[in-house]
Amino acid sequence: MKKHKIDPDRCIACTACVAQCPVTKATQHFRGPKMVGPALERMRLSEEDVEPTLDYCSNCKNCDMACPSGVPISTLNMLARAKYYKNHKHSMRDDMLAHGERMGKLAKALPAGAFFANLGMNIGRNLGVLRMVGISDKRPLPSYATESFHKQFKKIRQQIFPNKVVFYPGCFVNFNDPKVGLDFLAVMQKNQYEVIVEEEFVCCGSPLLVNGYLDEVEQNARKNTQLIKKWVDKGYKVITCCTSCGLMLKQEYQELFEIDGVKENAKSIYDASEFLMQLYDEGKLNINFGRLQEKYLYHAPCHLRAQGFGLPAMDLLKDVAGVNIENADAGCCGVSGNYGFKADKYDTAMAIGGKLFGTIKESGVRTVVSECGTCRMQINHGASVDTVHPLTILRNVYEAKK
Ligand code: SF4
Ligand code: SF4
Repeated sequence: MKKHKIDPDRCIACTACVAQCPVTKATQHFRGPKMVGPALERMRLSEEDVEPTLDYCSNCKNCDMACPSGVPISTLNMLARAKYYKNHKHSMRDDMLAHGERMGKLAKALPAGAFFANLGMNIGRNLGVLRMVGISDKRPLPSYATESFHKQFKKIRQQIFPNKVVFYPGCFVNFNDPKVGLDFLAVMQKNQYEVIVEEEFVCCGSPLLVNGYLDEVEQNARKNTQLIKKWVDKGYKVITCCTSCGLMLKQEYQELFEIDGVKENAKSIYDASEFLMQLYDEGKLNINFGRLQEKYLYHAPCHLRAQGFGLPAMDLLKDVAGVNIENADAGCCGVSGNYGFKADKYDTAMAIGGKLFGTIKESGVRTVVSECGTCRMQINHGASVDTVHPLTILRNVYEAKK
């Protein structure tokens, strides 16, 4: 059953959300979070109201972080979008972008499926097919890994330890960037933890939500919640390296649905760096680090900041592991999941990321560190630098010479 209606009357019309909305700053097409969220929600409570600029909200959550009244504005927007799609057909573009897991499974199931999927995307771009369906051809799409994380994980012989954690890889790590999962595994082994991978986990639902597939999000939320509860009841912590997955599992499921166990589960779900910092605070982290010579910038994804537990990757890398890294502190990168991959949102996404790209270029670093896979792609595209996950740097510093 869907959760209670969120009360728009908590809004005191202060406009703090408008000042912090990156899309409002980047384009005049969007009427802004106050109007599109709580103001129009009052109308939606009484009549069918279709707000054409609702489509511009990227679900980046900067409005929610700014709101002094605790209005979950972005969730109001996503619920309104889902309501719109109850009576309107989705485009082929939104269907494709929402269902990355379906594509990833297909690429994994067919012989050389990843190769042909990547080839197909490149040919599609060159022939203008992507543009025809509404996907930007100005940027690369995420490519599929030859072997999924699940497949590679099965071949690895871990050292067995009494301490164990359950890993939630998420679609991007599983299908597109398995190295992040392997780096997480290596770091946990360095800390005498064994990693369990629950293969029944499904997509957290983040790409489905932003494209208005709320019923499918709920199905996935119920399945993941049941599986996580099984592990939590046995005393395990569940860890993710993806900040959008973490936000869904811990926070958005609670805002969107009434599901037994979801609130209790949230207390045992951790971001990887958050978990490692907790080990450090308890004096249990392996601090036998080497030294890295390179200088890095860190970009905090909006979906990490929205979780409100600080910047644990910065604490871990800079203060604990002694890595030469500074926080770029230049706001949203603009991509917001699959938003910046849409042809009609590309310019907005790139305008939003402009401040961050400028900061990176000025710093002269060759590599930027960030948890979110699509933030990394956006930074790579907009600032022409390499990008890596913080756990990759942490693994490197464990393996570096002193
Ligand atoms: S979620 Fe982001 S884009 Fe949407 S209204 Fe809030 S700040 Fe603006
Ligand atoms: S920040 Fe919150 S209270 Fe202020 S206008 Fe936006 S929704 Fe309303």
